[in-house]
Amino acid sequence: MITKFIKRILRRDPMVKHTQANNTGAPKRIPKKAHRIDPHLLSKNAVKVTHTLQQAGYEAFIVGGAVRDLALGISPKDFDVATNATPDQVQRLFRKARLIGRRFQIVHVTFFGKGHPEIIEVSTFRALLDNAGDHVAESGRILRDNVWGSQGEDAARRDFTINAMYYDPSSETVLDYHGGMADMQKKTLRMIGDPAKRYREDPVRMLRAVRFAAKTGFTLDGATRAPIAKLGKLLNDVPSARLFDEILKLLMSGYSWAAIQGLKDAGLHHGLLPLLDHILDTGADSKGANDFVKLALANTDERIQSGKSVSAGFLFATLLWPDLLKNWKANSAKGMANIPALHDAMDDTIATQSSGMTIQRRFESDMREIWSMQPRFERRVGRYPYRLIESPRFRAGYDFMLLRCATGELNPAIGQWWTDFIATDVTGQDELMASVKNESGNSPSPAKRRRRRKPKAAVPPESAAS
Ligand code: ATP
Ligand code: MG
Repeated sequence: MITKFIKRILRRDPMVKHTQANNTGAPKRIPKKAHRIDPHLLSKNAVKVTHTLQQAGYEAFIVGGAVRDLALGISPKDFDVATNATPDQVQRLFRKARLIGRRFQIVHVTFFGKGHPEIIEVSTFRALLDNAGDHVAESGRILRDNVWGSQGEDAARRDFTINAMYYDPSSETVLDYHGGMADMQKKTLRMIGDPAKRYREDPVRMLRAVRFAAKTGFTLDGATRAPIAKLGKLLNDVPSARLFDEILKLLMSGYSWAAIQGLKDAGLHHGLLPLLDHILDTGADSKGANDFVKLALANTDERIQSGKSVSAGFLFATLLWPDLLKNWKANSAKGMANIPALHDAMDDTIATQSSGMTIQRRFESDMREIWSMQPRFERRVGRYPYRLIESPRFRAGYDFMLLRCATGELNPAIGQWWTDFIATDVTGQDELMASVKNESGNSPSPAKRRRRRKPKAAVPPESAAS
């Protein structure tokens, strides 16, 4: 009892700056029978974290998107915890805890179990900033904000009412400061505070609005939607890396097609991906491109919703393909040879893209590999197919080629041929090679046939090692 009392007194870290309590109001306390959160959907590790913090005398809650998803009956993909303990105090309570970030100092508590390790992100309640001083850029954008505050202030800093609820697993109560639960019932996405001011502070919130609307199927509240048309251009001031992260989240949300339509409806697609400008702004003439992107995104959404992984390089390769194809055709029409025409078009497409939102280098090299593999699927002669299936990124290139077949850009018989080719054994592959010869009548030159490598399985280990 006494130690608990002392801990309570001591837990006020003298280094921590507390701002004046703002007029943030008292939260609504929502009991289990009203919020109906199923405790089975909770991460045991997140509960361990809140429990440990509470045992040490601090307040601790599951917060943000996890509470939103729990209230929707969805299993959250990750869990965030908010507490009045400072990052140092949090770190002392857990064995595997790391302080992350300087601008937003948070603690990652890692748990190792079966499968992937789980990271619970623990952040200290943050203060509201006044609109003066060095925290805010001229446009109103927040630059620095490591000032701790009360839970009410922490709630007011969050973006949407449905993202500002706090769940205490021990009492099974939700603390709701901004009517998030009522908005959930009304299926409304509402920005906390004055939406225009909140978008100026952080323009990425406009993209988040579109992403959450697509994900939840909720409607943007009128006042939340209205300023976006005018303020969309503020996204130009956001550092490219952050924009890229946010667009990636949007595309990987499992609702990418809906989200892209949402971007268009909100007028936010300009300058993010030239392809989006192109496709979403033009009509029937871009139907082919539209079909390709639509199919690629539907495919991505399906994979994500069924828990499969998706490669970002692949995704961007599909999104920029129509643009690339246009450049490639234009180069060929100018008389360039096929492969140089493709490589030149790749450079152009990537350069145009980089004038909007730069795609990270590691994804760029994946994209180049997938693209440059495409003409190789049509060279079904000599040793080419055997070499192609040995490329490390073959699978991605193959999946990409199948999408091209599905939209009729490439003859579907070619896709089927490759599907058979990778499924069969050496004899089967030789038969398939022969079938192409018969089909097209252009047999490979004898020189090429002689140079053909033996399939791997036939090579004895000793000679393979030499
Ligand atoms: P997701 O399902 O994508 O993880 P999320 O709501 O958890 O959705 P995060 O980016 O993980 O989104 O952020 C966690 C929480 O932090 C949000 O729910 C919100 O309360 C707050 N938050 C995140 N980004 C912002 C922002 N730009 N402005 C205000 N609050 C934010
Ligand atoms: Mg989250």
